[in-house]
Amino acid sequence: MVYNLDSVNISKRSFSKRPKSLWRYRELLPVEDERRVVDLGAGFTTLHECKRLAKALNLKRLYVKDDTVNPTNSFKDRPAAVAVSKALEFGFKAVGCASTGNLAAATAAHAAKAGIPCYVFVPSNTETNKVLQAATYGAKIIAVKGTYDEANRLAAQASDEYDWALVNINIRPYYTEGSKTLAYEVCEQLGWRAPENIVIPMGSGALLCAIWRGLNQFRELDLIDGLETRVVGAQPKGCSPIVSAFKSNSEDVTPVERPETVTKSLAIGDPGDGIYALKVIRESRGFAEYATDEEILEGIKLLAKTEGIFAEPAGGVTIAVLKRLIDSGEVPRDEEVVCCVTGSGFKSSETILETVPKLVEIEPTVEELKKVIG
Ligand SMILES: *Cc1c(COP(=O)(O)O)cnc(C)c1O
Repeated sequence: MVYNLDSVNISKRSFSKRPKSLWRYRELLPVEDERRVVDLGAGFTTLHECKRLAKALNLKRLYVKDDTVNPTNSFKDRPAAVAVSKALEFGFKAVGCASTGNLAAATAAHAAKAGIPCYVFVPSNTETNKVLQAATYGAKIIAVKGTYDEANRLAAQASDEYDWALVNINIRPYYTEGSKTLAYEVCEQLGWRAPENIVIPMGSGALLCAIWRGLNQFRELDLIDGLETRVVGAQPKGCSPIVSAFKSNSEDVTPVERPETVTKSLAIGDPGDGIYALKVIRESRGFAEYATDEEILEGIKLLAKTEGIFAEPAGGVTIAVLKRLIDSGEVPRDEEVVCCVTGSGFKSSETILETVPKLVEIEPTVEELKKVIG
C-alpha cells in the first residue's frame, strides 16, 4: 500500500484529543469513508513497563505491549477492524477469513457489529475457545480437515466462487495496514521515539512486516527522530520456517509440511510474508529465533507470575525467545526491549490448564485449610 506521506498533515500535538483506539491514526489508514468505520475499540492497548520480568531476565529495561486487552483478546482486532471497514466501503455484503483461530474471532466480531454475514475457514484442530468465540459472534465456521495452509487454500478458492471479502486473502493489503498501528502506539507511548529492540511473534510474518512499515512511516513523517530499532522475529520450534531460513543464511523460506507445536496461532507452515519478514529482520540488524514448547509454557508462566499478564502461547514465544537471546548475548543486557504479547491466555485454556497444579478440594474447615497452607 503506497501513501503519499507528504500530503499527510499531522503533528504530535494533533493526537492529544484523538480517540484511544487505532482510529486515532485515521489519516494513515486506508479507509476514506468515516461512516463505514466499524469500531469495537481495537488498539491503543497498554504498554507496560515490566520491572519484575526485566529483573528475572537480567535485562535493563523491558516493556510489554499488551494486545490481549483488545475487544476479542488478540491483536487481530487491528487488521480485522480496518479490513472489515474497507470491505464495507467497497460494497461487499459478506466477509470472512482463513484463520488459526484469532482472526476468526476478530473478523466475526467486526462483522457482527457491521451486521453482515461472516465465513471463517479454520483447521479442524483449532483451539476450542477461539471457535466458540467466533461461533457466538454468529460466524459460519468451516472446519477444514487439515493444516492451516490447506484451510487457507480452500478459502482462496472460495473467494473465486462467492462474492466475499476474505480479509487476509482477496483484500489482504488492507488487512495488513491495520497491524502497523501497533508500532505507532509503541512510539507514541515511549514519548515519540522508536524502541531499541522489538520482539514479534511470526506466523505468516505479516505482523512483523507491518510493524516495520509503521516505524518507517513515523520516521518519514518526522514523528520520531531516528530509527535504529532491531526487529526480532520469534517462532515455535515445531513450526519455524522463517527462523530456519535466517539461521541458514537463506533468502528462501522452505515450508514446514506438518507443524507440531502448542502455539496453534503460529502454526503456519508456508508463511505468506516469510521472505519479506526475513528481509526486515536482516535490514534492521535483528534476529530470528525459536523456542521449544517447554520454554514457551515457561514463558507464559513467567510473564503471568512477574507481571500479571495472562498470554496465550504466542505471547510465551516472545518471552522465551527474548530469554534465549539475552542468555546468548545477542540482545545486550543494557538495552531496552519491547515484547509484543499478541493474544490472551483464555484463548488457549486447554494447553495452559496442563501446566497448572491440580485442584485440591477441601472441606470448609480451618483444620483442612491448615493441611494445604501449613
Ligand atoms: C496471527 C497471530 C500472530 C502472527 O501473525 P502473522 O501476521 O501471521 O505473522 C501472532 N500472535 C497471535 C496471537 C496471532 O493470532
